[in-house]
Amino acid sequence: TVRTRFAPSPTGLLHIGGVRTALFSWAYARKQQGVFVLRIEDTDLERSTPESVKAIMDGMHWVGLDYDEGPFYQMQRMDRYKVVIQDMLAAGTAYYCYSSKEELDQMRAEAEARGEKPRYDRTWRPERGKTLPPVPEGVQPVVRFRNPIDGVVAWDDAVKGRIEIGNVELDDLIIARPDGTPTYNFCVVVDDWDMGITHVIRGDDHVNNTPRQINILAALGAPLPVYGHLPMILNANGQKMSKRRDAVSVVDYSEQGILPEALLNYLARLGWGHGDEEFFTMTQFVEWFDLKNVSPSPSRFDRDKMLWINQQHMKAADNQRLAELTAPFLTKLGYDSTQGPALAEVIGLLKERVTNLVDLAAQATYFYRHDAAPAELAAQHLNEEARARLARFHKALADTAWDAPTLSAAIKTFVAAEGVKMPLVGMPLRAALCGTTQTPSVDLVLALLGKDEVLKRLSHTLQ
Ligand code: GLU
Repeated sequence: TVRTRFAPSPTGLLHIGGVRTALFSWAYARKQQGVFVLRIEDTDLERSTPESVKAIMDGMHWVGLDYDEGPFYQMQRMDRYKVVIQDMLAAGTAYYCYSSKEELDQMRAEAEARGEKPRYDRTWRPERGKTLPPVPEGVQPVVRFRNPIDGVVAWDDAVKGRIEIGNVELDDLIIARPDGTPTYNFCVVVDDWDMGITHVIRGDDHVNNTPRQINILAALGAPLPVYGHLPMILNANGQKMSKRRDAVSVVDYSEQGILPEALLNYLARLGWGHGDEEFFTMTQFVEWFDLKNVSPSPSRFDRDKMLWINQQHMKAADNQRLAELTAPFLTKLGYDSTQGPALAEVIGLLKERVTNLVDLAAQATYFYRHDAAPAELAAQHLNEEARARLARFHKALADTAWDAPTLSAAIKTFVAAEGVKMPLVGMPLRAALCGTTQTPSVDLVLALLGKDEVLKRLSHTLQ
């Protein structure tokens, strides 16, 4: 079975780059009827927070990426890492190193003076026939991995193609600190091994870790997973996405009124494609997804395209569900969506006109409260003549049955009787009832507002 994982470090909010990584790992597992694992890499005690763990879990839940196993927490696996370190020491694939910080600093300085890459001189690396220095007293050693000295580490990256790194580039990596705690790359290796991960799909900021991880896995006699490194997402200006400059967290998108399925659809299209398909469901995506179709070059975030995709998903979405998602935005604007027509019906009327839930809520406001037309709009559409006409319309409405076709006919009859063009009735009517002229067809608005409310609002305006 295929087993993939998403392994975020809980050091902030869930980033959309992280969501895309999770999405591709998830989709690959789903496509192969495999298992998707969530692992929280919380060993950086200074930067990891419980709030961030919560933000990641909430974000995964909001977008709807479900995992089959986990969450596993690395901090709960410390004993296991220590066992593996002891095993490696016993097997000779790792060794204690007592070099002091001063000695390491000196090695670095000397290497730099020679114009070389700073590296550990392998003083403590046991070799056949070599005598190690006497163990200094009172020094807590680190544990280093015995990296092969020559040869190359190579893998066929599922996204980037063949990658080869000479072992001369790689130091004997520290896998345990003086206090015995395991280091980052080592925990990842043990986890991927223990969790039976067959496909490591992650951001290409980790590509430099891969040869080290492959060497350690090989030393452990562990099977090697397939690696696929995803290129990063750039902002519209081609810069790396940044927290300060760009909307990067999942919360930002939910606050912008983007539907979770639309965010996933859009992120799926960043660096992956299937012909000309732009708008699709996750079921469809899973069916089409293959690592082979992931582009090795970075992609740019295109807000307009995301909004277009969001609009398509809004059109497809059930109005009742949209109502539940939109109500909080109306509340934020100070409107109570329980006081007026059913929000789902209002949404049915408005949703084709907007690209996101924030705009949808903004357009729905007049159904829930009668705010007088702004002065400028009143000056334009509610002069003496228009008000007199609205007063006559108010009378005409009194005996009208209240459904859209009847109202539409009633408006036409009234317009004809007045001998004016439609806008001279429609615009004042909108301004008076809705406080804006940006509304759908006026008969539909009247029908939905309801007779009592319409008559009340008209009287109020004409007072
Ligand atoms: N914890 C790493 C991160 O959040 C991911 C490690 C991995 O996928 O191997 O960037």
